[in-house]
Amino acid sequence: MNTTLRTDWTVRDICAGFEFSDAEGKELYGLGGKLTIQPEYQRHYLYAEQNGKREHDVIDSVLRGYPIGLLYFNKPQTDADRFEVLDGQQRITSLGRFTKNYFSVEDAHGFPHYFRTLPAAEREKFLATPLTIYICEGTESEIKAWYRTINISGIELNKQEIDNAVYSGAFVTAAKAVFSNSTNSNLYVWKNFVRGNVKRQELLRTALEWVVKSSDDKKVAAYMSAHRDNGDIAELENYFAAVIDWARAVFPNLRDEMCGLDWGRLYETYHANTYDATKLAAEVDELFAQDDDVITSKRGIYEYLLSGRELTNLLQIRYFKDAVKRTVYDKQTKAAQAAGVSNCPMCAAAGGSRSRKIWALREMDADHVTAWSKGGDTTAANCQMLCKAHNRSKGNA
Ligand SMILES: [Zn+2]
Repeated sequence: MNTTLRTDWTVRDICAGFEFSDAEGKELYGLGGKLTIQPEYQRHYLYAEQNGKREHDVIDSVLRGYPIGLLYFNKPQTDADRFEVLDGQQRITSLGRFTKNYFSVEDAHGFPHYFRTLPAAEREKFLATPLTIYICEGTESEIKAWYRTINISGIELNKQEIDNAVYSGAFVTAAKAVFSNSTNSNLYVWKNFVRGNVKRQELLRTALEWVVKSSDDKKVAAYMSAHRDNGDIAELENYFAAVIDWARAVFPNLRDEMCGLDWGRLYETYHANTYDATKLAAEVDELFAQDDDVITSKRGIYEYLLSGRELTNLLQIRYFKDAVKRTVYDKQTKAAQAAGVSNCPMCAAAGGSRSRKIWALREMDADHVTAWSKGGDTTAANCQMLCKAHNRSKGNA
């Protein structure tokens, strides 16, 4: 890969022909149309989020004569007269939006100024500011391998944004039109089940993880690579829709706790079973009505019920059932009597008058061997009976 440093282009050159649009899939141009500021694989414009602070910082830097950092352009081998922004999209878009009066910045006295209201000399100084740009020329794979590593602008790329860059093509374009499109009306339903920022490709990530039935990054990448030049995303879309439709059919009453569950895995594991949605709804309500310190993980209720109440650990239940206490008590007492020691292991270890005392069940309490607060289960295997005094002294473990 060859790189050339250019310092002769100014803010005026770079912003020539800039028009901003919020619509997805719209490319932004500069350098009089020769520079693609937002190639399709780049992320959406994010600097205007966070109350525009980053956008203001960029303009403030230029107005004060501070550098805004290196910009990287790619010169595609197929087209000698064109450039694409590899890194610096957010900064260049900030410059362009400011020159188009999309936002104002405050001066040293706290007065807001749009570009058009700056004194003429200030405007000229702003436009004449030279930028520092590396032009990179190389094969697509060289450029993209390197793009993976730069990641130097203010907002770090997440793994799906990088994958979109590395596997850019017909598949990514079609997938983004559905899953990265904040005007997609299906989002009203999807957002009840899937977490994440649509613009930052987090919904697309989930859709891909579901269709490959794995959250393994390599499997997602392999799928994107295999489908790269194929704009037909029916498999991705249909599978995603199947998962959501199933989740809605089984649990029609929406609750916040449903959002972000791994519905793809739940679908794979349980969709062949038959469920009575009305009965399930009543069971969900009943379990949600339990105190938070009894059922600690309300989110676990869904899979607990799907599993036919098998996977009790999902609820992170805090208290032992009486039957469990009785079983553990009997086993512990039998062993203690055979050994001639107290059936409270802490009494037995402490020595003295109580070291051989056999307590009655009602004189004892159940204790988590591995502390509940450290992830210990509320199961017989993790239960020991202690005399009430020792259980209290162990604290709320
Ligand atoms: Zn004791």
